[in-house]
Amino acid sequence: MEEAVPRTTLPIYRHAFDWDELTNEFRLPDVFEKTVYRWPADQVRKLQEERFRKTMQVGWNNPFYQRRWRAAGLEPSDIRSLDDIVKLPTYTSDDVKDSIEANPPFGDFHNIGTDLASRAPLKMQTSGGTTGLPRPTLFDARAWEAQAIVAARTLYIQGARPGDVMQIPMTASLANAGWLSYKACHDFLGVLPLTTGSGLVTSTRQQLEIAFRFGTNMWHSFPEYLIRLAQVCKDELGRDVRELKTKFLRTFLGPDVDNSLRRELEALWGCPVYDGYGANEISAGAFECPERAGLHFMEDSTYMEVVDTETGKPVGIGETGNLVATVFYRDLPPVIRYNMRDLGRVLSHERCACGSHFRRMDHFLGRSDAMVKLRGVNIYPMACLPGVKSDARTTGEWVCIVERVTVSGVPRDEMQVHVEVRRDAGSREGLQEALEKRLKDDLGIAIQVVLVDDGALGELANTGGREGKPRRLIDRRPAFNRNPP
Ligand SMILES: [Zn+2]
Repeated sequence: MEEAVPRTTLPIYRHAFDWDELTNEFRLPDVFEKTVYRWPADQVRKLQEERFRKTMQVGWNNPFYQRRWRAAGLEPSDIRSLDDIVKLPTYTSDDVKDSIEANPPFGDFHNIGTDLASRAPLKMQTSGGTTGLPRPTLFDARAWEAQAIVAARTLYIQGARPGDVMQIPMTASLANAGWLSYKACHDFLGVLPLTTGSGLVTSTRQQLEIAFRFGTNMWHSFPEYLIRLAQVCKDELGRDVRELKTKFLRTFLGPDVDNSLRRELEALWGCPVYDGYGANEISAGAFECPERAGLHFMEDSTYMEVVDTETGKPVGIGETGNLVATVFYRDLPPVIRYNMRDLGRVLSHERCACGSHFRRMDHFLGRSDAMVKLRGVNIYPMACLPGVKSDARTTGEWVCIVERVTVSGVPRDEMQVHVEVRRDAGSREGLQEALEKRLKDDLGIAIQVVLVDDGALGELANTGGREGKPRRLIDRRPAFNRNPP
């Protein structure tokens, strides 16, 4: 007797969407690099137009967007092409937060109702919120794969090939970066991912022993940790990290406008360093090609704009403003004109020497909501980076502390920059003055520098191999007490 085998009724991942349709739409890394990546600008624009129209249809069926667009007096027929995108109101993480509070736990932003099972399988990632509960972003199976294809393309263009070994010292947690890197390497490149987790999961010494044993030739990590790896390699293993013959490092350089951080990393590791820009809701937003002449937007998957921080109006080439993203492969939730309040500027619309017409932006220039207004001058804590790194005696770690002081009965906001000095720095002679002068040149306002010992900012600024991003601003003013000490 043959057994009658019933069909599964489970939401099996492999059946969740049409894989061929996905890779036709978002081409695989090597195919993409030979085609869309090299298309002339008008052909790229045409593709964006098609995808934008589809994205708008999804948006009009989503209660969060529908409400906001109707409130702005818009009808579907008002938005016909990308030229009309500026009519759509942007939104920020505050609007997402409101949506979640009104409709917990995911918000009408996600438009999934209560029937999670019918939309399964889902993956949840979150913002790295410093206080309270983190903000969720769901991925359906298609978006989860699409973002990995996009990340894999960036690594391919940078030179990753089958048989390479990528070490990823980031914990695959509710933060997206570790997962994204793992999936890009494993699912779409034939690169062996070594998911060692952060320094808390696998000690720095062990990370290096693993790298030497298993032939790691690429790393994806934060600059602070890559510097630490090189130091520990020398101090504890008695070896030069350059012996690893690393192909490239993939990292997040931040506002490294004078390239000092890149130069430092490239000298320590003896290989190219590629900057990347991304966020939990948009995944890989921009990346560097081997030319390292700006970060290319991934034009066929995400449409990026730069808008004035005050007026919200688009700004011109070279002008700094908030980055606004529209993602073409996301519909749970859609991401349409999301103002990330990350500062950026477009450097060029021209064809890059790599052959691509994809627009290029400068490094990520800091958070506009981390801006501090001091005596009428806007200060972005991340703008301290080049200054702090300008003297080799510092560890490169710093934190800005803003306090309200009362001078002769008048309250006044003051900022100090606490800067770590290397253990082996020798004399501190002239260091404070040199840093104060450089920061004044860079920020346009006099700021007091406080020199602290190597490692002293670990707890306060979340540095030294700890999980998550370093904290660069501690605002102790009464009304702005978002980061209590
Ligand atoms: Zn290029």
